[in-house]
Amino acid sequence: MEYVPSGKEISHFPFLKKAQDPIRTRFASLGSLLSTPKGQAIVAFAVARIQDALSQKKTRAPEVHESPEDEIAAYALARIIVSCVNDKQLIDRLTRYEAERAYYFLVNEEEWNSRYRQGEGEYSRLWDAIAEELGIRIENDRMPVPDYVELVAPLHDDRYRLINRHVVQGYVTIDKSERYDLLRERVRVLLRRDLPHRVPKEICEQLAPKAAEIKKIYQEQMLRQFGKVEEGAFPPCVQALISALAAGTNLTHAGRFSLTAFLHNIGMDITGIAELYARSPDFDIEKTMYQVEHITGRGGTSTEYTTPACAAMQTTGLCVHRDAICEKISHPLSYYKLKKSRVPRRNAAQKDEPKPAPSADNP
Ligand code: SF4
Repeated sequence: MEYVPSGKEISHFPFLKKAQDPIRTRFASLGSLLSTPKGQAIVAFAVARIQDALSQKKTRAPEVHESPEDEIAAYALARIIVSCVNDKQLIDRLTRYEAERAYYFLVNEEEWNSRYRQGEGEYSRLWDAIAEELGIRIENDRMPVPDYVELVAPLHDDRYRLINRHVVQGYVTIDKSERYDLLRERVRVLLRRDLPHRVPKEICEQLAPKAAEIKKIYQEQMLRQFGKVEEGAFPPCVQALISALAAGTNLTHAGRFSLTAFLHNIGMDITGIAELYARSPDFDIEKTMYQVEHITGRGGTSTEYTTPACAAMQTTGLCVHRDAICEKISHPLSYYKLKKSRVPRRNAAQKDEPKPAPSADNP
């Protein structure tokens, strides 16, 4: 018998076709829906969802507070709002949140586990339904190598490297907890692939106040997160770009773009960025300000750019002087965050170290 998820289950996995089909009709005239009280209420749920994605402490209550349809509509609208904001990192945050949320519900919902799990070693029917729709083929705890390789490509955990796996006759053995990790990754990739949506201009205009609200919250959070700019924590690729500037080397377009986006993303203001460029012997204030304002979304375009990930930096030849921290991260911003978090500890440790006794050489 075909498995039919309940409304509550569907609202926990709003990306499923069964969840999306009714929404399509509802969103066919999104412009008029937004101007109704019902539409406004859905906008409020959508904004709350994005705020939850941005907050450190997530609220993942299994109860459905509104109707399952409203929860699903809020999911869809949240994706539309972040598409209007069109900031890559914000989009990444929302897709990661949705993937984590699906993972959480799938793993923790006791009701599902008792209701659908058929026995040790067998997957729940809910798992089967989701995996099938997402194209995850795991049978008898094994997955075909090509599927596996594609699925784990963005994961950086060593245990997922093919060389560390048990492979038999073209199949990779997957244990129980791993199948949930793989599903989460699949959800993230699929949800990210569809974003940003091409949203009609009129809809973005209607949603502009909410988009601005989200943008403000996000920017404040980024500033809090990165705090004071710490040049000593810059990743080697960024340090190399700054050294090249100081040495009078003309940076490539990709180099200028990556450096500016990085400095902007960690909260450096436009003047600070321009001052860095002033270290270059051929510094041209007007040209620099134009480029910086364009990349930071102030030059007549509302698009703010994000530092390219390490994979993209490698493609443009900007990933240089990799060090041990580089092995742990996939994004220069993660490098910065990680190294910066270590600085106070290092300073504290240095403070605690016994000081050498004063001497003539060491007063
Ligand atoms: S691995 Fe990433 S952070 Fe490290 S140097 Fe390359 S691009 Fe920069």
